[in-house]
Formats: sequence, C-alpha cells, structure tokens
Amino acid sequence: MELYKENQLKIYNSLTKSKEDFKPITEGYVGMYVCGPTVYSNAHLGNVRTFMFFDVVYRYLLHLGYKVRYVRNITDAGHLENDADEGEDRISKKARLEQIEPMEVVQMYTVDFHNVLKNYNFLPPSIEPTATGHIVEQIEMIKEIIEKGFAYEVNGSVYFDVLEYNKSSNYGILSGRKVEDLIHNTRALDGQSDKKNPQDFALWKKADDRHIMRWPSPWSDGFPGWHLECSVMSTKYLGESFDIHGGGMDLKFPHHECEIAQSQTCSGVKPVNYWMHTNMLLLNSQKMAKSTGNFILPNEILSGNNTILSKAFSASVVRFFNMQANYRSILDFSGEALEASEKGHSKLMEAVHFLPKIAAGKTSTFDVKNWKKDCYDAMNDDFNTPILISHLFEAVKVINQIKEQKASLTAEDLSELTTTMHAFVFDVLGLMNETTQDNSGKITGVVELLIKLRKEARENKDWALSDQIRDELIALGIQLKDGKEGTTFSIN
Ligand code: AMP
Ligand code: ZN
Repeated sequence: MELYKENQLKIYNSLTKSKEDFKPITEGYVGMYVCGPTVYSNAHLGNVRTFMFFDVVYRYLLHLGYKVRYVRNITDAGHLENDADEGEDRISKKARLEQIEPMEVVQMYTVDFHNVLKNYNFLPPSIEPTATGHIVEQIEMIKEIIEKGFAYEVNGSVYFDVLEYNKSSNYGILSGRKVEDLIHNTRALDGQSDKKNPQDFALWKKADDRHIMRWPSPWSDGFPGWHLECSVMSTKYLGESFDIHGGGMDLKFPHHECEIAQSQTCSGVKPVNYWMHTNMLLLNSQKMAKSTGNFILPNEILSGNNTILSKAFSASVVRFFNMQANYRSILDFSGEALEASEKGHSKLMEAVHFLPKIAAGKTSTFDVKNWKKDCYDAMNDDFNTPILISHLFEAVKVINQIKEQKASLTAEDLSELTTTMHAFVFDVLGLMNETTQDNSGKITGVVELLIKLRKEARENKDWALSDQIRDELIALGIQLKDGKEGTTFSIN
C-alpha cells in the first residue's frame, strides 16, 4: 500500500493562514509549481534555502508514493529591477553592462544554478520551463484577459486593471493587502506612466530603444510582465487548478497576488489549493540578498573561498543546517551555526554508518515502531524537519548505547530502524553519504597526509614543494584553505 494512504499530511496554507489536511485534486497525483531563479546572477544561499526546502517537499511526496509533477521555471525575461513595472530588465541590464548577449547571461547563470543544485544533491524537477520559451502562450493569455475586460492597452503596453478585477474578486486574497490601502500607499503616478491607476501591473511592456530583449506582439515590440510567465507555465503544465504553489515569502506580494488575479481571470477558478511560502535566510541580521551585497554563494561555502567563514563546509552540512530550522521561521546564517551543524551532522552520520556493524540482540530496549511513527508525524505536520531531526537523534542515542552494550535491538527492529534512518536521512532530507562519496574516507586520508607533508615543507621553508602540493591538488579539484585551526580542504 502506498504510504500516503496511511499518512495524513498537513500543510500550512498561506492562503487560509492555517494548517490543512492535504488532499490532492487527483488521488495519488500531485502537481507542484515553484517559482524558479531569475538567471541574471549567481543564486545565493538564501535562494538555495527556498529551493532546498521544496526539494525536501518533493522528496517526501515521492517517498509517500505520490506521482509528482514538479515544475520549477527559469525566469529569463521580464523581471525588472526593484520588482517593479518600471526600470530595466535585470538580464538586459547585465548583458548591456558586460557587452554580451542576454542569452549568454541566461546560459551562464542557468549553468551555474544547475551546478549548485548538483553539488547540493537536489532532485531535478519534472519540467523546468523558461519564460522566453513561452512568449506565444503569454501573448495569448494577455489577449484573453483583455477580451474579458480586465486589461487595457496604452501606447503599446498592456496593464491589468486591478480595480476592475477587485469588483468581482478579491485582489489581496493571498497577501492580505487591501486595495484601498494600496491606492493610498502607492506613490502617485508621476505622469511618466501609462497606467490608469498606480496599483495596476504590466502584462506587456513596450520596449524602449535600448531594451535588447524584445518580441513582436499585437501591441508593440516588447516583452511580457514578470508575473505572467508563472500563470502561463503553471496552467500549461499543471492545469487551471493544481495542488501546491511555492516560493519565498517575499514573492507573496506582488508576484503571487498578481499570478492569482491573472489565472483566475482566465479560468474562472481558484488556481492553487495550497500556497506555501518559505521564510528568509539572514546574514548579519539582514535578509540575504544580491541587491544589497549581503550574501554568500553556495559554492563559496564548499571551496572555503569567502570572507565570511574561516573554513570550508560540505554541502551535506549546509543541507543539515537548513533543515534544522522550520521553513516558516527566519534562519540566521553564521560560521558558528554551521560549525554546530557540522558536529551534529557527523554524529548522525557516524551512527548511520555504525548500523551495519550492529549484531541483533534477543530483545529490544527501544520502541522502534513508536519512534518511526514520530518521524512520520513530524514530516506530516507541515514538513517539520527540525522535529524530525530531533527524533533521528533519539535513534543516534540508541545506536551509541548499543555500541557501549547498554542497549539492544531484535533483528526485526534493527532492520526497521535501519530502513527508516536511511529513508529519512538520505531519501527525504537528501543528506549525502560523504564517506561513500570519497571512497570510504581514503581520499580524506590521502589529502590529510599531503596537508601534513606541505606543513613540513613550509616549516623547512621549501616553498616550491609546498606550492607544488597546493597547485597540483587544485588541478585535481581539491582546494586547500589555511585557517586559524590549521588547513582544511574541499573537493569540488
Ligand atoms: P529570485 O531569483 O530573486 O527570483 O529568487 C528565487 C527564490 O529565492 C524566490 O523564491 C525568493 O523568494 C527566494 N529568496 C530570495 N532571497 C531569499 C532569502 N534571503 N532567503 C530565502 N529565500 C530567498
Ligand atoms: Zn513565479
């Protein structure tokens, strides 16, 4: 029997602000859409926090036996500076500044994003559609919204008429914003804008002369508004109504609010049943963000090549650090926090690796069935990974007691505990078996030996040899990092 039949998952729905029983539209199948990255720069660790959480959601749904279609898009056009309707397209701007083609920018940062996801052990989504690959469908959706009377054209640009929509629907249903307040708070039009009302948002923008990314349309040579691509691609691949839509909290307004308005105008039905939003990753008590320069890149953590941390950390440790926090809470990034996670992570992994060495006993001193239920209950409670981890550590404690011959498990319980630990640690949380990755620690041993020889060479002032060791290791993808507590390394 599929596990989902015996596990009632609850999801905190941002739309209703309550935890609800998860009931997919079609039994056994889940459609999930997550807003993907805008590929105008490297994804930072904050972006990765959000994507990593949805990777765990995807992994758990698969573990429960659902057939999941997971769509995560690539935003490669239409996302303007400051998330607003004015200003330059982020990708166009980067292309102009670097004097390269916009598609070179897109290619470069899409490749980088995929490289990060691979290093951090993400499962690939079922479909990864791009905005530029769906211009035709976006133009069709705009036509439909105009026909229905909820959008208007001015000087080659098309805007969604928020006040008109709000007469029959609720603009603000997700974010809780009131149209009256928006009118009050949005800065008055400066005469430059074509909008009827400042809270209206762009569906199509006429491109000015320096805008390089442009497509022909019935209204002008221009480009689609940022919110449109997600309405189009989610409807195309998941249908007019689908199960889960995710993203970071900062996307609730205006992005997701506008998505609802666009999709609902066309289909007449509620587009998404469960809206899920992750909270922000902070650095120095501020939101990690590219625009403010307050960020660290995921690959910089692996190489140790950054100004924030005193040493490199493995991808599995960073994953563990992320999962130690509830996705709806803010999470503070720091070297100390990562070091604490590293300690916990190695305790967990040591225990998992010790499992095959345990000999079954005649009796069990630990209630494995109950413990297993606790693990599932934690994940069924809105993917509560920190509570799951606390249960995994109950098992770690038992394994360590068995090591000291202070506890025992029957063969059946040992097998159930082993299967459950493996399922949650590797399949669901996506942590990595680093000892198998590096061939049972042999590479670690060899690199540590070379670090020792390099240290001796430096003590003997044999700089040529010490540099040779460092450079040849770099050529093999192994980076040494000298820190206060000695030399550490990372393998790329
Ligand atoms: P972007 O590439 O800017 O469109 O963002 C990609 C995803 O990362 C979105 O879901 C954002 O909400 C999310 N995000 C951006 N900054 C952070 C942060 N500091 N912490 C967590 N998620 C973030
Ligand atoms: Zn989106």
